[in-house]
Amino acid sequence: MTDFGGAIKQSPSYKLAIIGVPFDEKSSYLRGAAGGPAAIRASSTGKARNPETELGVDLEHDTVMVDLGDVDTSGDVDRTFHGIETAVAAILKKKAGPIILGGDHSITYPIMKAMAKAYRRLDILHFDAHPDLYEDLYGDRLSHACPFARIMEDGLAESLVQIGVRAATANQRANARRLGVRMVEMKDFRDGLTLSFKNPLYISFDLDSLDPAFAPGVSHQEAGGLTTRQAIDLIHRLKARIVGLDVVELNPLRDPSGITASAAVKIIKEVAGVMINKACLSKRA
Ligand code: MN
Ligand code: MN
Repeated sequence: MTDFGGAIKQSPSYKLAIIGVPFDEKSSYLRGAAGGPAAIRASSTGKARNPETELGVDLEHDTVMVDLGDVDTSGDVDRTFHGIETAVAAILKKKAGPIILGGDHSITYPIMKAMAKAYRRLDILHFDAHPDLYEDLYGDRLSHACPFARIMEDGLAESLVQIGVRAATANQRANARRLGVRMVEMKDFRDGLTLSFKNPLYISFDLDSLDPAFAPGVSHQEAGGLTTRQAIDLIHRLKARIVGLDVVELNPLRDPSGITASAAVKIIKEVAGVMINKACLSKRA
């Protein structure tokens, strides 16, 4: 049961909608990310936390946030991806912001197909230890190592900025250049970075962007990453209108203490708060 600190309501008219995608068939190393949505929901309980964000947004009273449950992932990959696209499109039709709980990172490709149909121009901010820009991995073009190659090839976003990268290969650097991707590698990351986006912004948050000290519950632990604090500060400083979020790659089998699920809930709350805050500001203006 999810409640995000008591914020989740049941209402046909909503501003933010959570959906889960318990899917890990496109993982290249370990399975387990299919358990992500359930673990995030369990961690979000209001008995453990409150509905207010650091910037003072009360997710219970300042907005209407619902949980629409999980996408059906019992069929083949085509059917699952189609179900993801349909579920996200239904949320966007209500002019609400989708918040998708993964699942492995392959799900961002069908999500962005729906986003690109609703928004003519989109920018993406992608947190990840990995660029996920391979042409294919072991012959699979839909692997969780490839979604951003597909997204940029299909023109589903106008720009893509990657944060937290520390496992780039020469091949992926070349693909980043070819596809016009701005990769901010960890070796070049400095506190205080402020990013501005001119188009509506979609955030895709792979939890392995965080250092394994803060988020060990991922399939591909890569040392030398962001602190949870650095990620939150960057989100708070964004100059952008955020219109959607996914948080992916939580592998509860590697997260016995729940610290990674807890980080996921925190990231979701803070991004949701910024989404609502900006909407309030534009309404007042
Ligand atoms: Mn990824
Ligand atoms: Mn990754």
